[in-house]
Amino acid sequence: MKRVLPLLLALLLLAGCTKKIETQYYMMDTVMTFTLYGENAKEAERALSDRVAALEKVFSPTDAESELVTVNRAAGTSVQVSEDFASLLDACLAANTETEGAFDPTLGAVIDLWNKETVPSAEELSQCKVGCDAVRLEGTSLQTETGIELNFGAAAKGYASDCAKEILEENGIEHALLSLGGNVYAHGGKPNGEPWMVGVRDPNGDASEWLGVVQIKDGFLIASGDYERYFEQNGFRYHHILDPLIRTPAMSDLRECVIIGENGTRGDILSTALFVMGYDRAVEYWREHRDFEMILVREDNAVLVTEGISSAFTLTGEEYTLEVIE
Ligand code: ADP
Ligand code: MG
Repeated sequence: MKRVLPLLLALLLLAGCTKKIETQYYMMDTVMTFTLYGENAKEAERALSDRVAALEKVFSPTDAESELVTVNRAAGTSVQVSEDFASLLDACLAANTETEGAFDPTLGAVIDLWNKETVPSAEELSQCKVGCDAVRLEGTSLQTETGIELNFGAAAKGYASDCAKEILEENGIEHALLSLGGNVYAHGGKPNGEPWMVGVRDPNGDASEWLGVVQIKDGFLIASGDYERYFEQNGFRYHHILDPLIRTPAMSDLRECVIIGENGTRGDILSTALFVMGYDRAVEYWREHRDFEMILVREDNAVLVTEGISSAFTLTGEEYTLEVIE
C-alpha cells in the first residue's frame, strides 16, 4: 500500500498536466476544431476562440457591422483602421507586389459578382474597380479610392492562425492542433512526443477524403483548391480562386496547393497565389524563396512535393503519382 499511494499521486498529477480540451466552432465561414493539451488548456482555448471571433468581426465581408464592410463603405475617404486590419492589409499589399499581382486584396467587387453563383458578363467584370495602387496605408491611416472594395478571404484565416499561435505560447500550451478550415496549425507535436498527422485533401474526393498525410510537429499547413467552393454552369466548374489579371476563376493546371511553413498569414496568401500562378510559376517562385515547403496537386494527378517535406509526406491516394521538386 505504501508504494501504491505515491504512484497513484504521480499518475493523478500527470493526468493534471496533460489536461485536454477539444472544441468546434463555425467561424469565418468555416468549421474550426481546436485541440489543446496543458494545465492552462481551458483558459487558453477560451482566449483563442474569443480572439478568432473578434477577428471575424474585423475581417468578415458579409457582416454589415464588420470593420471591413465599414471601411469598404467609406471608400474614397481617409479612415483609421484597427491594428489587426492595418497589419493584415500591409502584408497583403506587400504580397501583391511579391506575387506580381497573383494575390490581390482589392478584388472585393469581383468576388461579390462571382459569389452570385452565375457567370458575370465581361462588362460587369470590367466595371469593377481593382488595384493596390488605389490603396494607401500609413500606419493605421487608410486612404482608398472610390469604388475600391477590399477582401481578405484568402488571408484572414492565416492571420487568425498566427494570432492563435501567439495565444498558445502566452498560455504555456505545449501541445495543440488547430484547424481553421483548410488552415492547420500544429504546435509541439502530440503529448506522446510523436508528430501530428495532418491530412491533405483529395481534390477528386469529398471533404473526408485524403490523398496523403503530412507528419508535422510545429508549423502551419495551409491548403487552397478548386474543390472548396465552386458552382457549375453549362457543365463547367467555376471555382473561387480568381486570377486578378482576367478577373475570372484561375485557369490553373493545379487542383490544389498546400503551403507548409512558419507563418500562417504568408502560408494562406501563398496557397492562393501559387494556385493562381500554376505549376511552372509556383515552382519558380519556390526556387527563388525556399523558405517554405509545398505540396502541389496537378490536374494530371501528379503530386509534387518540395524536397524539405518529402520525407514527412506519405501518399495514400492510389490514382496519384509522386514527384519531388528540388
Ligand atoms: P479558402 O477560403 O477556401 O481557404 P483561399 O485561401 O484560397 O481559400 O481563399 C479564397 C478566397 O479568397 C476566395 O473565396 C475570395 O474571397 C478570395 N480570393 C480569390 N482569389 C483571390 C486572389 N487571387 N487574391 C486574393 N484573394 C482572392
Ligand atoms: Mg489562402
